Amino acid sequence: MNQNFAVAVDGPAGSGKSTAAKEVARRLGILYIDTGAMYRTLGYACIQQGVNPACEAEVASVLEKMDMQICPQAGGQRMLLDGEDITAAIRTEEIGKAASVVGAYRKVREKMVEIQQALAKENSVIMDGRDIGTKVLPEAQVKIYLDASMEERTKRRVGELQKQGKHPDEALVRKEMEERDYQDTHRKYSPLRKAEDAVMIDTTGMDIAAVTEAMLSVIAKQIK
Ligand code: C5P
Repeated sequence: MNQNFAVAVDGPAGSGKSTAAKEVARRLGILYIDTGAMYRTLGYACIQQGVNPACEAEVASVLEKMDMQICPQAGGQRMLLDGEDITAAIRTEEIGKAASVVGAYRKVREKMVEIQQALAKENSVIMDGRDIGTKVLPEAQVKIYLDASMEERTKRRVGELQKQGKHPDEALVRKEMEERDYQDTHRKYSPLRKAEDAVMIDTTGMDIAAVTEAMLSVIAKQIK
């Protein structure tokens, strides 16, 4: 593998994308790019500045002014907003929801996609998101679409929240996930969908190690 190559990974929240993609990146020695973190950063910036994510014009102005830095590094990716490390602060449900709202705007998508394409031009990457195989890297050598049953995705999210010391209401977690799925699959620009040439992996009942192995096996078959 002498030239840069790209692995595009898409799928809904809780499908196992980010944890497995991080591990695949480590095993292959390539960069892991979490594109959701970019939309989350904008959502976070809006909330911090008291801007309603539903107000497109105001979001566009936050987008123009914000200084977002993506710092890929071993074991993950750190996000800086105006020089401040917000990697952990953006991992809340509130910010996830805001990300989903601002991610529906055309201007926002254009800017984020431009940054993502530049990163993939300079490096071999595994990039995860919602529109990587369809829009950001349509020429990626490998495209993978991960999914899992709603029950399993809810269980995973509840487990993550419990690990953070929280006491989530399972029904509420499920409802929020369904709402985010709806918003992400029904928006006008770059809705979440499987690229025609993506390999689908249903991760229901699989642990992260199994998902990682399944992804590595798809990659090995496609990149000779
Ligand atoms: O993957 P994550 O949950 O961090 O993404 C947060 C939100 O950002 C998603 O629900 C989606 O609305 C948006 N997103 C997107 N396109 C991407 C990645 C994330 O629209 N490539």
